Amino acid sequence: MRDVIEGITAQLDRVPLSRFAPSPTGYLHLGHLVNAICTWGITHALGGKVILRLEDHDRGRCRPEYEAAILEDLEWLGLLPDIGTVEAFRAGATRYRQRDNAAAYDSALAQLMATDHVYGCDCSRKTILARAPQTNDELCYDGFCRDRALPAEVPHGTRMWLPSKPIHFDDAWRGPQTQTPAEQCGDILLRDRHGNWTYHFAVTVDDLDQGVNLVIRGEDLLASTGRQILLSERLGRVDPPVYLHHPLITDPAGRKLSKRDFDKALRDYRAEGASPEEVLTLAAQQAGLIEAGRRIDVGELPGIFA
Ligand code: GLU
Repeated sequence: MRDVIEGITAQLDRVPLSRFAPSPTGYLHLGHLVNAICTWGITHALGGKVILRLEDHDRGRCRPEYEAAILEDLEWLGLLPDIGTVEAFRAGATRYRQRDNAAAYDSALAQLMATDHVYGCDCSRKTILARAPQTNDELCYDGFCRDRALPAEVPHGTRMWLPSKPIHFDDAWRGPQTQTPAEQCGDILLRDRHGNWTYHFAVTVDDLDQGVNLVIRGEDLLASTGRQILLSERLGRVDPPVYLHHPLITDPAGRKLSKRDFDKALRDYRAEGASPEEVLTLAAQQAGLIEAGRRIDVGELPGIFA
């Protein structure tokens, strides 16, 4: 794993600041734990700090009981954030909880609105699909509302026009990447028709405002990166974060685990009597981060990567 560390230091000449950013839409599972092991392990191996950010931008799907469970699970595992502490979340509003951070998104949107790149959109998924057959894995917006001059506010969605240019970045796990967001997803949605900030917008604003310079996340989010770099450029960021997309745990059929899926929550392992070391070891082994037979505890995470 030493090459991962070298890949980051070759691109980052400052103390790393990364984030663990779960959405409280369910309980933490082994997939989250693999991400936490990589985030804490790699960041601390480099002498950096980890922010805990709770990404509850989608108000319809997030629940306070899931937030409480995430905080409890992290404490039980001994995975304590350096910034955005468990105590700060329990105490009330904090800028590291997206629901409390509306002023930052309002101000970033105002900045983009001033550039003429933002427009209102009343298309639903259904109307977009009805207009054009889709060739990508994800929905690609065709720019239908660009010149319709709809107000960019609820009940309309708010989109940003994207130039058709390729974005290059050097992923610290997977090597050089090129993505063209205009062809992947088309003009990007910043706020949906119900007033929810979208994942891409909220995460890009937060990474910029919070000084995050190292993003460590699962490879299921690899396709998001080009558009987040483009969005951050529009917001005036000159030095995008270094990105690392690590492998996911898969089931024997090769499907990724997800909290909506079939896998067990971390708290289920705990209820069955497993120790934090046993759960950390299981996650690290299933993701191929440590060899069979090796056991790890929370203090040994930097040692996996150093
Ligand atoms: N909130 C996202 C999730 O739970 C992670 C976002 C990110 O790391 O950029 O999958």
